[in-house]
Amino acid sequence: MSPAKPTILVTGGAGYIGSHTVLALKRAGYEVVILDNLVYGHRDLVEKVLGVELIVGDTGDRPLLDKLFQSHDISAVMHFSAYAYVGESVTNPAKYYHNNVLGTLTLLEAMLAAGVQKFVFSSTCATYGVPKILPIPEDHSQKPINPYGNSKLMVEQILHDFDVAYKLKFVCFRYFNAAGADPGGLLGEDHNPETHLIPLVLFAALGKRNSISVFGTDYPTCDGTCIRDYIHVSDLADAHVLGLEYLLNGGDSEVFNLGNGNGFSVKQVIETAKQVTGREIKVVECDRRPGDPPVLIGSSGKAQKVLNWKPQYAALPEIITHAWQWHQKRHQ
Ligand code: UDP
Repeated sequence: MSPAKPTILVTGGAGYIGSHTVLALKRAGYEVVILDNLVYGHRDLVEKVLGVELIVGDTGDRPLLDKLFQSHDISAVMHFSAYAYVGESVTNPAKYYHNNVLGTLTLLEAMLAAGVQKFVFSSTCATYGVPKILPIPEDHSQKPINPYGNSKLMVEQILHDFDVAYKLKFVCFRYFNAAGADPGGLLGEDHNPETHLIPLVLFAALGKRNSISVFGTDYPTCDGTCIRDYIHVSDLADAHVLGLEYLLNGGDSEVFNLGNGNGFSVKQVIETAKQVTGREIKVVECDRRPGDPPVLIGSSGKAQKVLNWKPQYAALPEIITHAWQWHQKRHQ
């Protein structure tokens, strides 16, 4: 019998990217414990699909964390739980700094106190702000334009300082636009409220909404709408397993972008969704949404080189097809 694989604590494992990563971890043979406060996460997906232990609570709850680390032999922490609504972060920054920064600091202190030294962190391309170079490299300047991006950048800075002082080893992933769903249909995106483009376009195709709003048609892009780099959530999940294994094998702290390196405009996404679904989708052109950079495209060569990561589902029609299969099932 091969020795048991390590146990990984996944915070936010009941959420969108976290749940897909738990599935990938399980398939790779890891034991997983999820810590999730279920504010946005889904108990049904953990219980019916993932079948791993779920501890309901906050990352800011130090007594709960101490108990958790005492009762489980945790080898590494993957930290997905965070609030991630950019607009809300502008109107209620305290909520974002409290949860995303203070919650993470508490988690880091608890894990270090328990002797756990390896950490995989969900950061974001929102830490770059408005890019000066495209595709964006990891060493691009970081000047976030909203409190959500600030909160993630603050944690990145804490991680660097904790590496110097306490030898914490971390992998920090800066995601571009996570999209799609588990190709086998087990998991998918289910935010409430939903604000992301692809699910909202598919809700319009399903008749759950009358139309899709296009936020801004006067950007300096090919068709006037914003361009984003959409990356399949299962490819993100695979990258996390590789990042974890890199750390477990003694790798030094690193930061990686995760994207496909291809940009698609809002109008191109809507056109592709029309083709995938075969349905008419009513489009309403609106004003710009505050805080949206015109173009975000990431360079992910470093993750491909260092982690040997290869996105499996890079084509936009495939990403939207998987999302469509999921939403049809979830909302039938
Ligand atoms: N977007 C849009 N209509 C919507 C939702 C989003 O036009 O109902 C645009 C948004 O302005 C951005 C792109 O779609 O340019 C992707 O937005 P999303 O919220 O999915 O991700 P973000 O880039 O903000 O992380």
